[in-house]
Amino acid sequence: MRKSFGNHLVLHDISLFVEENEVVCVIGASGSGKSTLMRCINLLEPIDDGQIFLDNQDISDPKINQDKARSQIGVVFQQFNLFPHMTVLDNVTLGLRKVFKVPKEEANQRGIELLEKIGIPEKAHTHPDRLSGGQQQRVAVVRAIATNPKLLLLDEVTSALDPRLVGEVLQLILELKGNNTTILMATHEMGFAKKAADWIVFLHQGQLIAQDRPEIVLSNPSHPALKDFLSSEIKF
Ligand code: ADP
Ligand code: MG
Repeated sequence: MRKSFGNHLVLHDISLFVEENEVVCVIGASGSGKSTLMRCINLLEPIDDGQIFLDNQDISDPKINQDKARSQIGVVFQQFNLFPHMTVLDNVTLGLRKVFKVPKEEANQRGIELLEKIGIPEKAHTHPDRLSGGQQQRVAVVRAIATNPKLLLLDEVTSALDPRLVGEVLQLILELKGNNTTILMATHEMGFAKKAADWIVFLHQGQLIAQDRPEIVLSNPSHPALKDFLSSEIKF
């Protein structure tokens, strides 16, 4: 796919595959195009050229029902994921109730199960601002998977967190991987990417420069821009 904003080409003919049940981590400097890639896949941004297939369906075809396609993709961003005026449980069950028309009782049951999974069922009826940042982000992740999406997009979901809260969110993502969730994830957590990713993709100024196994991309970087990026990531 190709994407530009005005005359600024932001994604140059990106070709990317995410296989079912695999975790693909997208790395790259700020401004390299990671978020734009995710937003295009989720149909939040129109693309200039190319195609996006989800489970063999061309979801970039303007004739398809975009809301329906989007309902098969779970998304979590860096921050501001939960609705502050709704309880934690209502946040988790929102998609089930509104998009998939699951009856409230059944949706709540599924919601409580998900909150049990992340160890905070007792928070179901409180509001998100009573939760720690790590708990809020874990709620956002389980909300995104509540509807069993075919693909989960995670865009720097730990970047806004206090460092001591990052681990609990990454641990949840590892558990999802163990449960056969298909994940495309932009991250600066190199240690996590090395451990969790089946493949790592490196974006540099909107170009996909490397797409390989973690040990090859991280331990044996071939491209100068990748070498520079990796050394800058561990400088501090
Ligand atoms: P990353 O997530 O890797 O930091 P982004 O995808 O956010 O990168 O941004 C890639 C480039 O696209 C940047 O140069 C950014 O300024 C530009 N960009 C992103 N969104 C917009 C937009 N809505 N309008 C214009 N330019 C944008
Ligand atoms: Mg971004």
